[in-house]
Amino acid sequence: MNPNWSELKREFERRRETAEEARDRRKRAIYGLIPEIKDLDRKIAETGIALNRELIRLNPDPIVIREFENKINALIENKKNLLKDNGYPEDYLDIEYSCKDCNDTGFLKDSDGKPGVIPCHCYRQLLVERFYDISNLNSDGQTGFEFFNEQFYPDVVAPDTYGIEESPRSRAIKIKSKCLDFINNFERADCRNLFFTGSTGVGKTFLSKCIAIEILKQGHTVLYLPAPAMFDIIYRCKYRFNDEEIPDDSYRFILDTDLLIIDDLGTESPSAAKYTELLTLLNYRSAKNTKTPCKTIISTNMNPKDIQKTYSERIASRILGEFEILRLVGDDIRIIRRLNQSEQV
Ligand SMILES: [Zn+2]
Repeated sequence: MNPNWSELKREFERRRETAEEARDRRKRAIYGLIPEIKDLDRKIAETGIALNRELIRLNPDPIVIREFENKINALIENKKNLLKDNGYPEDYLDIEYSCKDCNDTGFLKDSDGKPGVIPCHCYRQLLVERFYDISNLNSDGQTGFEFFNEQFYPDVVAPDTYGIEESPRSRAIKIKSKCLDFINNFERADCRNLFFTGSTGVGKTFLSKCIAIEILKQGHTVLYLPAPAMFDIIYRCKYRFNDEEIPDDSYRFILDTDLLIIDDLGTESPSAAKYTELLTLLNYRSAKNTKTPCKTIISTNMNPKDIQKTYSERIASRILGEFEILRLVGDDIRIIRRLNQSEQV
């Protein structure tokens, strides 16, 4: 689906309304608790009206204007102090937009603070989400590093069971710290891509989505796609079977998004053409990354040896050379269940 501007505009209106309603609720509560603030708001509004009246007069008096402005500033200062004295942040009654760079208008603010013509990063992200009809990564309420719990991973060293010389828990803690390094160094060209490997249900998808949330907060665009869906889009875009209408944008986003997460690599139906596409994609993104952040995360059940067997030598060496390999291990079913229900545990 190709989203149109009026649809996106409605979404931004909805975001602004939600932010304004939340502010109004805080305001009503504060008016009940600290009536002096209501009084101050009334005086600020009255002085504002008087100032406007002066401004629209034929010959406005600059001294009167200055006096009104000083009065308003003093009242605002008073209000901030009252809030602070009562244990609230001084901006508690400001509107808290979900994106501070554009105040939920979708366009970056100009020097005068009004929305300009340059689309904001949140606009680009919304476009990506609508384009692929994917849900907002933030919305499931149980993904994010605050839900990561190392207790879900066994604390026993059992190389015969887990295939590593340390406990799954100590491995998971190290991997979490690598994920945080990735987030902190995302904008550096020398920060390596991540490759999550491990059996089903050990937290690969969970961790890649946790990273996605943090990268979105930094104001970058993130595209999360299961490998079969991604290859399908690329293939249809490039070869246009049956003359179907596939907009070029859907391929462009895969190439250009700041963070691309390819989930479940290896579950796509195998074909040499797909591997060539994967190589082209990785080449393009790694070249772009030298100028502007363009990182890729791959998660797969395959281990690096399987990669060598399944894909061409060139893809395997590209992945092994450019990606940091993070192998998670654990008792999958228990971890899946707990990760999914981590809120209740
Ligand atoms: Zn924005």
